[in-house]
Amino acid sequence: VFTAAPGAAVTAPQFPIMAGAGASGRDKRATAAQLKTALGSESGAAAASELRALLELVLAPAAGPGGGGGEAAAEALEWCRCLLSGGEAWDSFVQAVRAYDPATLCGLVWTANFVAYRCRTCGISPCMSLCAECFHQGEHAGHDYNMFRSQAGGACDCGDSNVMREAGFCKRHRIKSNSNVPCVPKDLLMMSELVLPQFIFSLIQHLREGYNEPALDLPSEKDLHKILQVLEPHVSFLEDLTKMGGAMRSVLTQVLTSQQFYKDLSSGVGENACAKKSHEKYLIALKGSGLAFPEDKLACGMQEQGAGTSTLAVQGFILSLDNKILSVGKRKRVKLSSTTKDQSIMDVLKHKCFLEELLFWTIKYEFPQKMVTFLLNMLPDQDYKIAFTKTFVQHYAFIMKTLKKSHESDTMSNRIVHISVQLFSNEELARQVTEECQLLDIMVTVLLYMMESCLIKSELQDEENSLHVVVNCGEALLKNNTYWPLVSDFINILSHQSVAKKFLEDHGLLVTWMNFVSFFQGMNLNKRELNEHVEFESQTYYAAFAAELEACAQPMWGLLSHCKVRETQEYTRNVVRYCLEALQDWFDAINFVDEPAPNQVTFHLPLHRYFAMFLSKAVKCQELDLDTILPDQEMLMKLMIHPLQIQASLSEIHSNMWVRNGLQIKGQAMTYVQSHFCNSMIDPDIYLLQVCASRLDPDYFISSVFERFKVVDLLTMASQHQNTVLDSEHERSMLEGALTFLVLLLSLRLHLGMTDDEILRAEMVAQLCMNDRTHSSLLDLISLENMNLYAGIIPGSLSFESVLSAVADFKAPVFEPGGSMQQGMYTPKAEVWDKEFDPVMVILRTVYRRDVQSAMDRYTAFLKQSGKFPGNPWPPYKKRTPLHPSYKGLIKLLHCKTLHIVLFTLLYKILMDHQNLSEHVLCMVLYLIELGLENSPEQESDEEESAGGQERCHDSWFPGSNLVSNMRHFINYVRVRVPETAPEVKREPPASTSSDGLASSQNSGTAQVFSLVAERRKKFQEIINRNTSEANQVVRPKTSMKWSAPGATPQLTTAILEVKESILSLLIKLHHKLSGKQNSYYPPWLDDVDVLVHPEIPRYSHGDGMTAVERILLKAAVQSRLNKRIIEEICRKVTPPVPPKKISSAEKKTLDKEERRQKARERQQKLLAEFASRQKSFMETAMDVESPDADIAMEVATSEQHVSEAIYDCVICGQSGPSTEDRPTGLVVLLQASSVLGQCRNSTEPKKLPTTEEEQIYPWDTCAALHDVRLTTLQRYFKDSSCLQAVSIGWEGGVYVQTCGHTLHIDCHKSYMESLRNDQVLQGFSVDKGEFTCPLCRQFANSVLPCYPGNDVERSLWQSHSNKCMQDLVQEVEDLQEQLGTFPVSISSETNLSKEMESVMKDIKSTTQKKYTDYSKSPGSPDNDFLFMYSVARTNLELELVHRGGNLCSGGASTAGKRSCLNQLFHVLAMHMRLYSIDSAYNPWRKLTQPMQDKNSELVSEELPEVPVLYRDVSSLLLIQILTMPQPLHKEHFTCIIKVLFTLLYTQALAALSVKCSAEDRMAWKESGALKKNTSSGEKSWEVLLGHVISELSKGKIYEEGETEEITVVLVNPDSVECYLQQFCLPFLRITSLLQHHLFGGDLPSCQEDEEFTVLASCLGLLPSFQSAHQFTSASCLDWPVPAFDMISQWCSELASFADRNPDQVKALLIQEPKWDLPRLLQLPENYNTIFQYYHRKTCTVCTKVPKDPAVCLVCGTFVCLKGLCCKQQSYCECVLHSQNCGAGTGIFLLINASVIIIIRGHRFCLWGSVYLDAHGEEDRDLRRGKPLYICKERYKVLEQQWVSHTFDHINKRWGPHYNGL
Ligand SMILES: [Zn+2]
Ligand SMILES: [Zn+2]
Ligand SMILES: [Zn+2]
Ligand SMILES: [Zn+2]
Ligand SMILES: [Zn+2]
Ligand SMILES: [Zn+2]
Ligand SMILES: [Zn+2]
Ligand SMILES: [Zn+2]
Repeated sequence: VFTAAPGAAVTAPQFPIMAGAGASGRDKRATAAQLKTALGSESGAAAASELRALLELVLAPAAGPGGGGGEAAAEALEWCRCLLSGGEAWDSFVQAVRAYDPATLCGLVWTANFVAYRCRTCGISPCMSLCAECFHQGEHAGHDYNMFRSQAGGACDCGDSNVMREAGFCKRHRIKSNSNVPCVPKDLLMMSELVLPQFIFSLIQHLREGYNEPALDLPSEKDLHKILQVLEPHVSFLEDLTKMGGAMRSVLTQVLTSQQFYKDLSSGVGENACAKKSHEKYLIALKGSGLAFPEDKLACGMQEQGAGTSTLAVQGFILSLDNKILSVGKRKRVKLSSTTKDQSIMDVLKHKCFLEELLFWTIKYEFPQKMVTFLLNMLPDQDYKIAFTKTFVQHYAFIMKTLKKSHESDTMSNRIVHISVQLFSNEELARQVTEECQLLDIMVTVLLYMMESCLIKSELQDEENSLHVVVNCGEALLKNNTYWPLVSDFINILSHQSVAKKFLEDHGLLVTWMNFVSFFQGMNLNKRELNEHVEFESQTYYAAFAAELEACAQPMWGLLSHCKVRETQEYTRNVVRYCLEALQDWFDAINFVDEPAPNQVTFHLPLHRYFAMFLSKAVKCQELDLDTILPDQEMLMKLMIHPLQIQASLSEIHSNMWVRNGLQIKGQAMTYVQSHFCNSMIDPDIYLLQVCASRLDPDYFISSVFERFKVVDLLTMASQHQNTVLDSEHERSMLEGALTFLVLLLSLRLHLGMTDDEILRAEMVAQLCMNDRTHSSLLDLISLENMNLYAGIIPGSLSFESVLSAVADFKAPVFEPGGSMQQGMYTPKAEVWDKEFDPVMVILRTVYRRDVQSAMDRYTAFLKQSGKFPGNPWPPYKKRTPLHPSYKGLIKLLHCKTLHIVLFTLLYKILMDHQNLSEHVLCMVLYLIELGLENSPEQESDEEESAGGQERCHDSWFPGSNLVSNMRHFINYVRVRVPETAPEVKREPPASTSSDGLASSQNSGTAQVFSLVAERRKKFQEIINRNTSEANQVVRPKTSMKWSAPGATPQLTTAILEVKESILSLLIKLHHKLSGKQNSYYPPWLDDVDVLVHPEIPRYSHGDGMTAVERILLKAAVQSRLNKRIIEEICRKVTPPVPPKKISSAEKKTLDKEERRQKARERQQKLLAEFASRQKSFMETAMDVESPDADIAMEVATSEQHVSEAIYDCVICGQSGPSTEDRPTGLVVLLQASSVLGQCRNSTEPKKLPTTEEEQIYPWDTCAALHDVRLTTLQRYFKDSSCLQAVSIGWEGGVYVQTCGHTLHIDCHKSYMESLRNDQVLQGFSVDKGEFTCPLCRQFANSVLPCYPGNDVERSLWQSHSNKCMQDLVQEVEDLQEQLGTFPVSISSETNLSKEMESVMKDIKSTTQKKYTDYSKSPGSPDNDFLFMYSVARTNLELELVHRGGNLCSGGASTAGKRSCLNQLFHVLAMHMRLYSIDSAYNPWRKLTQPMQDKNSELVSEELPEVPVLYRDVSSLLLIQILTMPQPLHKEHFTCIIKVLFTLLYTQALAALSVKCSAEDRMAWKESGALKKNTSSGEKSWEVLLGHVISELSKGKIYEEGETEEITVVLVNPDSVECYLQQFCLPFLRITSLLQHHLFGGDLPSCQEDEEFTVLASCLGLLPSFQSAHQFTSASCLDWPVPAFDMISQWCSELASFADRNPDQVKALLIQEPKWDLPRLLQLPENYNTIFQYYHRKTCTVCTKVPKDPAVCLVCGTFVCLKGLCCKQQSYCECVLHSQNCGAGTGIFLLINASVIIIIRGHRFCLWGSVYLDAHGEEDRDLRRGKPLYICKERYKVLEQQWVSHTFDHINKRWGPHYNGL
């Protein structure tokens, strides 16, 4: 009896309610129905309290965890269902509610690994995703979409127009507003409204009860899991409710968000003791999480409405920091706290409704999957979505805290993002919560707070006194990327314009954000190890690079995407302003003056990069005047230092100056320029340097560069110098580095004027020039991410395609001879090499130095091939995009005296062959000169600038700054500082009495000692002073130790050096030097004035150093008449016309000698090349197993050879000789079990891989199945031993023997194996299993087949034709079979050869599984071996036939002829077959050749009879006969056997025909046959014979059984009968012909398909002479040894007597299936998606689960769980197991989730590749890109070919053991 709650019972009518647990289902329903009725009536209030009481009872926490457990929970849920439905059946209630679902949104929620789609064309948010069903129902043809496997889970956005365009909605969710969903009737959901509040509250109560604040820091995870497990049915129930559609969801929303319900039930106010207790637990949990209930805070006196930050909050902040940091980071801290807007974000939480507390617990329990799914399933309800989003934001700080503590932060991260991405991808919603809930403040504060927990003191610059703090990259937070979900949310909301605008307008936020970014500024500092190798290579750099990219750069790109128009100028100003402030703070904090600390580098300067990228956008898109946002000169000087330091360090790292820091430093250098990072790292750095260079004094900048690169001391004209800062071994590469950097700096235009399309094109050309690329690798390398993704959906991928097709040609995927497959590749067009190849871009984008070389090699090859330049070219000079006017200042660098002095000095030193100068240096010097000529200052005239102003030290070098005029300026004497030992010192300065008019007219002074360092210092001082005086500030102390001269350079003395050169004269002399000829340079305009007008001649665009010099001189002449004249003069002077020299005889001699040597060298080279190509072609043909005309240079003794004795080469010892009994030689063979034949089917239509539930493949029409059935049937009715001789086996698990054709001594092989074993090298094969590779051709093998000693003279004797009559031959054959034991090769006298033959037989037998050799009813019977041996011969013959295409029409030698080992195999088999003697009484030969007397009497009734000869397989009989005969066989005996067997076969055909035709036909034939019976040729007429067969068979009950339906062969005319008979006999003729071919040699004749029968018959000697087809009948081949009719009668009588006993089987056994189609793999659909959609969610029939790694067998279509433990049987995983059952050890599986095929071969496996390619001819392994894949028929053909030809082992290279674990 139900006990009502107090107060309720008074007026309540008594319902027959039994106490909770006991009620039966019917009782519950009745109770519920009554309650519902009562609630609807006047007594509603009473009923309501009754209901409440009932619910309290059934949902009591006691029933939860620890209580009744699962049973109680089930009971409670049962009650809830009954109550909700008001007593109705649950299912019909669900249906009724569903009818009111407006269904405008899909909202399907999925978890990790679900397959979803993303359409960039339809998406508004980049996070948009669709479920497969919605995607396929929508129209996305031609869109830019891809499939992806969800990492974190997600939900379908179909129907949500905030996230995607409506055009992409599927049919179901397209109909929107016109929803005719009727109003929900009130009483349908009335019960739900009443029950659910209590249900949800009970859930919360369980959660409260279950949570115990852990005593230690470790939450007792087990407890949590236990609670969750108990609650699972409850949450699932809620989830089920959400799936009932909109109506139910809106009820749930009401319940979840109602403050009233929450207050009533859970606040702990009220008399319910239980509720009170649970509320207390809740409060404890809240406190335990470091959260305060707002009321408590107030009690403590927190004035929340106080101004900004209260003192307490600041304290709280500071206290939360590590004490150490506190002392150093004070300044920072104070600043930080003042910007932290609201401390309450971090630690105040108050719950007002169920939803809020539910989320709280969800977080506390670390996002249990079920709960997440439920919460997300509710999202289609708009009110809920808003409420939930706000709740989520409210808990954001708490989420972060929980995440940081979590032990499974990865899982938790995924779950968080799973939720948040649904909420924040929606712009409208994001904007709303930004405005109403301070979303941005919360996010930024939480991020800042999170990073604060792992700060350390920065050691950059000033190790002791730095006030800067940075994140510690070794901390778990960074190493594990724990911050990822928060950063990803932040990036997500910044992608919404309205939100981003809020951020950019809010100065407070910007300040906080810059503070956040500065935590990463200078992190992961590297210090160069100078003495010892670093002990431990820290890998923290991964974390550092990832953090800068994700936490700094990505939000930056997000913000930048909203600063693209003029109207947004203000935003940029804001960012730049706070960025500069942060930078200034940073410089102050690290105590930076003007020089970077030596031997330090950090790759992380996010503040610099923010500044740079906002500047770039400002100029490029917002038309901002750059100078209005640039800081002063001093700041610019500071800004350039650290990026420049990185560039110098890159060069140091490449010069191996950082080797002691380990490999990781190279890793950093590479990552810095790598494709995913370059846009956010090196590009902004270079740009920032360009900006600085364009605004700073050029002399200062240039000197700084050389100083940073430590090569200042090298830049002297003296022949010797001392470098105090650099070892001389590094000087050369550092100088190269410095010059290369200058070239990069001065020629890159990425941010200085190029359009997006130009950039894309340049990037693409650079990547393609390095290497041919696949489409996907190009996409990957050219990180469009930053350019496009954040700019919203743009023509991005579209313009990618169009640019790609403009610059590259597609090379379709091709096959290499070895069978390895290539992908579709893109290669640069010829015009691109000609015009667009830009070595500078290549250098910028190379991670590996070898890529530059690769690009140059490809360029060289192009020039050679196109005939443009034959030699070794230099990098071409490429004209640059014009500079954007804002950056014109950059050109000053090219026109400054400092640079010109450097160039002059270097040219001079190169000419003088000074040390440490390379071609690369010259190349870069020339490049810089050319850049200068191409970028002359606009105001430049030919006249000199006035050299006014104060005297500067290098004014003595050059008068002006314009390169064009400085080029011709002659330097006569230079004052240099040299060591006293230098040669210059001794020389007296020559008096300037030079008669050289030209030189003296220019300049006769002496250039001063040139010191870059002094120059830089002077400039710096100037700038600082100017700034300080301008700004009227106190002069700051700028002195530091580094100001003094670097060490006291000892014993330097000043010397005067005579130079007398100008840049022009140096260039001309260099030309002579490069050409090796005296007067090689001749001004081209003297011959052709036109060149001055059109200097862009193609002749100058490609070439070597001389070409470059010529081009420069021409450009110099074009720009200035004076230059032109001076060039002419220099040429005239330097190169006086030299009369052609006569060659003296001595010279001639050396010349001849040289010439001879040259010729010899050439000859030698040619020989080598020839040898190499021969070797290559050998390798190719040797690999190309299938090539029919492969003529391999190997001596295999085949039967065709007519040498007296076969001679074999041993590939191990190299000796040649015959194979002997004592020392046998053997063929290298691979034995493998094969079921290929068994897979043949009796249908011409190849089977398709099923892709729907309806399609199925059944195995019962395969060759293997039918043969199996036949044998089993025979065994049922006939004597076992005779059954085992009546068929062949090996259709499944037969042993195929193949050889590479190489031979070796068997004893040599044994020692070879021994050496392999001792080697113990993992070679991918197992020596223990006898596996090895052929020592010559490296082909895989596992046994050696001994060669039978024989000589062919003997054989040709055997072959000679005789005219013995048939009867004699038959007798001879019989006699030979009788005298088995006396054959020459005696088994008893064991020889080495016979031992080997025995051993290989063992190998053959053990190759296949026991079940494929044991068919006898009595296991282990010798009959098994007998059957197995001749079946091996059969298998190999049948397989050869398959390889020939199923017939012998093509004729010729065996396809693999030269490499066939059938002949040797027959010898081995025959030797073993002869060990068995067939009881002569049972020898079929007699049954075939002589009438038996009274055989019926032999039949003892109990014993089963022998198989009637008409049921015997004639091909098997043939093999038995041949292999039991003494070897070698006489050809005449062979022919005799065939003739006899043909008579049997023909009779079988007639018998089969007779049962196939109708009764009337049978009668007709019987009669017509009888009429002609007595004609002379009766025995050779099918009509007569058929008539006889019919009449004989009629004696039994054979025809009596009713006509079977399948026998409908219409055989109306004689032609079709003839055709039937021929088809019946052909398989036998083919096998026989092949056998004859192998045993006796001779080519097979080729023929038309319709003459195959006649041709083969005459080839076999069945036909005396070839007859033309039309008069030919197959019966004319018959040659009866005894009267035909007697024979036939005898055979038929066997059947008749069998029919008496078993009339039902007679016919079935007669009809055989002669026509097998060739073995095929299953046909695959065109589109991979068809396969994927069906199989990736298909359940395995064994374990009934959806496998994690599904795979499908391409031979039979079986679906298996790859690697699944679920389907493991005795340590074999399902895939391996199937490979054994389906392919006898060979399996071909398509891995569904990877689109890749794997091959299993025995104990090894390999990844074969994919037969599905995308539109660009590429594989998509693991479906990473998710683009549509289409079948590549050629590849599938190759796969099939390899399967059928058993060549997987030979062609695929990368095999590994699978340990049965696949
Ligand atoms: Zn959907
Ligand atoms: Zn949809
Ligand atoms: Zn679309
Ligand atoms: Zn040998
Ligand atoms: Zn070989
Ligand atoms: Zn299979
Ligand atoms: Zn399975
Ligand atoms: Zn399984």
